Amino acid sequence: TLTSVERDTAIFDLINKEKYRQESGIELIASENFTSKQVMEAAGSVLTNKYAEGLPGKRYYGGCEVVDEIEQIAIDRLKELFGATWANVQPHSGAQANTAVFLACLNPGDTIMGFNLAHGGHLTHGSPVNISGKYFRPVFYGVEAETGLINWDKVEETAVREKPKLLICGASAYSRDWDYERLRAIADQVGALLMADIAHPAGLIAKGLLKDPFDYCHIVTTTTHKTLRGPRGGVIMMRNDFENPFGIKTPKGQTRLMSSLLDSGVFPGTQGGPLEHIIAAKAIAFGEALSEGYYNYATQVAKNAQAMAKAFTEKGYRIISGGTDNHLMLIDLRTKNGIDSGLTGKLAENTLIKADITINKNMVPFDDKSPMVTSGIRVGTAAMTSRGLIESDMARIVDLVDTVLINHDNDSKIAGIKGEVNNWMKEFPLY
Ligand code: PLP
Repeated sequence: TLTSVERDTAIFDLINKEKYRQESGIELIASENFTSKQVMEAAGSVLTNKYAEGLPGKRYYGGCEVVDEIEQIAIDRLKELFGATWANVQPHSGAQANTAVFLACLNPGDTIMGFNLAHGGHLTHGSPVNISGKYFRPVFYGVEAETGLINWDKVEETAVREKPKLLICGASAYSRDWDYERLRAIADQVGALLMADIAHPAGLIAKGLLKDPFDYCHIVTTTTHKTLRGPRGGVIMMRNDFENPFGIKTPKGQTRLMSSLLDSGVFPGTQGGPLEHIIAAKAIAFGEALSEGYYNYATQVAKNAQAMAKAFTEKGYRIISGGTDNHLMLIDLRTKNGIDSGLTGKLAENTLIKADITINKNMVPFDDKSPMVTSGIRVGTAAMTSRGLIESDMARIVDLVDTVLINHDNDSKIAGIKGEVNNWMKEFPLY
């Protein structure tokens, strides 16, 4: 019987080890965060046992009355959070959400235009190793070498030349806000749909701390596990539904609304049964994000990013674009105070981890090193803000990072920093 199943200590010992790793270190990976206990409780609940292909009230399986209520709450809370009128909460991840949009809006071979991966974009926006770059014709826009900023005139030039059917904005490593109004004008000029992938700054957008993409972007996707602080997953939203402009019809010849195409793009287009345990966890996270407490959290994330950017700059590090509007920043490690540093992203990542400080190596725009080496690192404040750290703590973190990087070949010095990190983190209990 189930009750006699032997406990899998091999895996639970490793889970405990990972819990200790998360609790004892400084987490600066910009795409990571710590969810609340109740989010994890829902993610580990009996809902994982349930099949529920379809949508609330329209399922292909019996016994969905309860999960229908849960999924409807998730949808309603998400719509309230972003002022959307339509949402699908089933995508298993951000990549799944984006792929479902492509399936709904495009035919194979259509041109898509996204932000260059090598400048901070995401794989799912047209990289040749991703389905988006294999099944569609990808073209890209990027940042200017001198400023690290996107030049909207050049975006327009490329769009006019390439005539994409889908223009994608959003990034994994761009620290500045987006001109959605201008992008919509460009999309309208070339007859493209405009999609925003707000995976990174979603939490800040939800709380009005960054520009609102919803009035301008036809479709908005996001992950739920970054600044939003929910379980790992994705969602698709729209503020205004509209008739699909590319003439895809139902078998009976009717034009379908984009909401219906997007629902089909998720299931049966790219997924089978939804993860109702994760949808419940999403619902809880959206409820948390609707609270006053989360507004304070998101505000602190932004303040901490400002403090961190200032501290890195004061130490002589070069932040791409000179600063940040959101929760993250990209640092070009090649020079410090204008002098060759001898550092690479790989060396920084591998050295900082010895001090229990986690960051990720990252290409910088116009990088001369490979993606496995890189010239930069990406850091963000979402996770450490969840632990309760404030602006003054950011200066201390930067101090620790700097000391480790300066002493990258001094193992005993790094061991000392690790001890300091572990002791300090005890002051901010996680779970
Ligand atoms: N879109 C953007 C902008 C991202 O940064 C990411 C993840 O890093 C994704 C999509 C993909 O999300 P997932 O890893 O959940 O598939």
